[in-house]
Parts: sequence; C-alpha cells; structure tokens
Amino acid sequence: MPFACASSGFADCQIRKLPGPTPCLAGAARSKIALMKRILCILAFLALATAATAEEHVYFGNLHSHTSYSDGSGTPEEAYRHARDVAKLDFLAITEHNHAQAEDQASPDRKDGILIAKDHSLYEDLKKTAARFNKDGEFIAIYGQEVSSIAKGNHMNVFEVANVVDEKAVPNGRFDLLFKAWLPGHPDSTGQPPVVQLNHPYFRSTDHYWLEYGQDDFPSREDWLKALESNVRTIELRNGPAMARDSGHKPEEFFEPQFLKFLGMGLRVAPSADQDNHYKTWGTVTDARTGIVADALTKPKLLEALRQRHVYATDDKDLQMVFKVDGHLAGDAIDPAPAAKSALDIQYRLSDVDEPNASYKIQVWSGSCGLSPVAGVVQEFPVAAGEATGQWKRLSGIRYFPGYAYIFFKVLQSDGDRAWSAAVWFGPRPTAPAGAGPEPQPKTKPKRHRKRAAHR
Ligand SMILES: [Zn+2]
Ligand SMILES: [Zn+2]
Repeated sequence: MPFACASSGFADCQIRKLPGPTPCLAGAARSKIALMKRILCILAFLALATAATAEEHVYFGNLHSHTSYSDGSGTPEEAYRHARDVAKLDFLAITEHNHAQAEDQASPDRKDGILIAKDHSLYEDLKKTAARFNKDGEFIAIYGQEVSSIAKGNHMNVFEVANVVDEKAVPNGRFDLLFKAWLPGHPDSTGQPPVVQLNHPYFRSTDHYWLEYGQDDFPSREDWLKALESNVRTIELRNGPAMARDSGHKPEEFFEPQFLKFLGMGLRVAPSADQDNHYKTWGTVTDARTGIVADALTKPKLLEALRQRHVYATDDKDLQMVFKVDGHLAGDAIDPAPAAKSALDIQYRLSDVDEPNASYKIQVWSGSCGLSPVAGVVQEFPVAAGEATGQWKRLSGIRYFPGYAYIFFKVLQSDGDRAWSAAVWFGPRPTAPAGAGPEPQPKTKPKRHRKRAAHR
C-alpha cells in the first residue's frame, strides 16, 4: 500500500514510496505539492475507509431448492426467474438430488423419471442456465446437488462442482468416499474445495440419527470431524415447508437444538435458513433467508464468504445484521484465543429497512465442546424501537473465559422473527475425546419420521 495516514488526521499524512519534493523547488511549486499530498491523502483515507467496510454488505437468498430435474417442479429457468423477479433474492442455489431413488416417494405430479442421476446432461443444462442468469451485482445463480438420502445418513448440499456425484463412484451413504476421494478431486467453479452444507439435521428425531452425516463411516469422532471440516461450512437451522404448493408460509422446521448439538460436537458451521422448495415457490414460500456477508455480489465472493462462514439465518426477509468480535466477523476463528478474562470487543450493526421501528433483544450465546456441549445465553441486551439504525454499536461487559469454545448472537425481533449469527470460535478446534465414535444406536426402534420419508 503506497499511502499511510496517521490516525490524528490528514495534517499528519505521510506519503511513502513516492519521490519526495526536491529541496530547490520554489514556494509555489512546494505549495502545489503540498496540495497534491493532501488530495492523495484524502484519496488514501477514502480507500482505507472503503477497505474497512468492504466485507460488510449483506446479501439474502436460499441455498436449497429443487426443480423437475430431480423431485421438484418447473425448470431451472423458472426457478431462477422466480427467485430473482418475484422473491427479489440476491442468490438462489438449485440443489437437485444426486441419486436415482430421489423420486420413489414423490407425489405423482413430481414423478416423471427425469433426474440428473439418470441423465447427467440435465446437470449440464442446469449449469448453463445458471451461467445465463448469473449477473454480478444483480443476481447470483448457484448450482449444486443434494447428496445422499435420509436413510443413509441424511442430505448434504455440494455447491458448484462440475460433475454429478455419481453413485457408481460414491455409493449412497459412503461419506468417507465423498470426503476423502470425490470432493478432493472435484474443485468448485472457482477452483477451491467445494462448500458443503448439512441439510435439515434430524439428530435424535429420526430412526437413522446414528448415521447422521456419515458418522458411522469413520473410525472415530475425530476422523469424522477432520473429514467434514475440509468442506462443511453451513448447517440448516430453518428448512421448508418443502412441500408447500403456495407461498407465504411460516418457516416449518426449527433446528436450533441440532445446531447447538453440532457446535458442541466441534463442527464449525454457520446457520442457514433455506426453503427446500419442491414446488414453484422459490424464495417466496416463506420470508426465511440465508444472509451472506460479503464485499460484493459476485459468485466468487459469495462462495468465498460461505467458505469463511460469513453466513447467518434469519426469519425476516431483510434483517441486516453483522457481528464482529475483536474485529473478526461472525464465522471466523480467533486463534490464538484472547487472554483469559479479557473483555471482548463486540461490535454489531442491525437494521431492517421496512421495519425501522422494530425493537430487538440480542442474546449472547456461548458454549464449550465435548464435556458440556450445549450452549446457553450469557447475557441479553435490549435494542429499543428505532435504535437499530445500521450504525456500528457495541455490546460491552462480555469477557472471554477459557473453556468457552465459541460465542454467537441470536436476535429476537419484536414481531417474533428470530435470527442467528454464525459463531466466532476461540483458539484451535479442540480434539474430540479419544474413543469418541458415532452416536450409539438405540435398543428399541424409534418412531419413523413420516413426513420426511416422502422427501428422500
Ligand atoms: Zn433434503
Ligand atoms: Zn431438498
């Protein structure tokens, strides 16, 4: 960087790496140079100010939806158009099931034998359609796949890879092959390791919970965590109603307990709020949105922000929130951890353009990993009506205590809407206790989760 401005103001400006004024210059020339220095300094200051806020745009969208290219309705073209023009989303990911049984239990109007699993050229068509709709600064059309089936360990979204995750290479349920063999050989459209999202976590509420996300495919909890953390960045805290035929519903599924459970297991995942549309309701079935904090609306920037976990889940379609701890955006890790008992510098900005008079409660949550894995509320801060102006504010009085693995923020709006930030983690991820394996299978068979069985 060629310029550096002292914080005391423009008068203290220093210009580096530029030739200094020659000592024999006349007074007029000298004052011209002084003026130029001042202008350059102002420009440098503006550039620095822009850099400081560069990460702080919020974009709203949906990372999980289907069309008739698997067990949904309509075409990718209809989906992107609806999301862009009707729902006014900034981004939509179409994530078709990768496996051939996806339609087995679909309703007749969604069952036509047309699937990317059976005809990979449909995936090529999805990619081409995404390229046509993708427009920097306006709308980002993401393509992806929903991999695996509920009965084999639940679903994961894999974003922006060139090929269908073919069942011959990765048999359904073989998460070890997916993470250790397939994903490393298939970078995403930006050449990076593909981002993976854990969909609709059902931990402890299905009859397959001990298989959840392939835990049973790895020799230990630690091996499983290591494999997943190369790609997994988000987990759905909201999903659906996936099967609603019309729009304007409330978000159906609430996975806060599962979100806490996985944080406690040591997975570093940010929460998302998706829709999983199987009918023509892309972006409009609910107001739930996944918020991404990025410095510009381009596909590489959004994918990079996902990779950094700069993501949050919101019930409100345009609640903008950005949290920072000691200067790190929610989703980051502070490593090494702060000094024990040091005060954390927590900054946030909160705003909702169509509800300027809403009031809020901000809950600070923190938790550990392993021993007492579930997080709890550490402190609560009210934000009075009209005070969420989008300006940076501080939450003071929160200290870091060793043993706290992470901190995150839950925002409760006066109309009942809720939003969850990603965590900021402290220090390196703690190693899973030796001997920790997958969750034990129950002795008696739990009740089958009927509704989800139709959505394979
Ligand atoms: Zn699913
Ligand atoms: Zn789905």
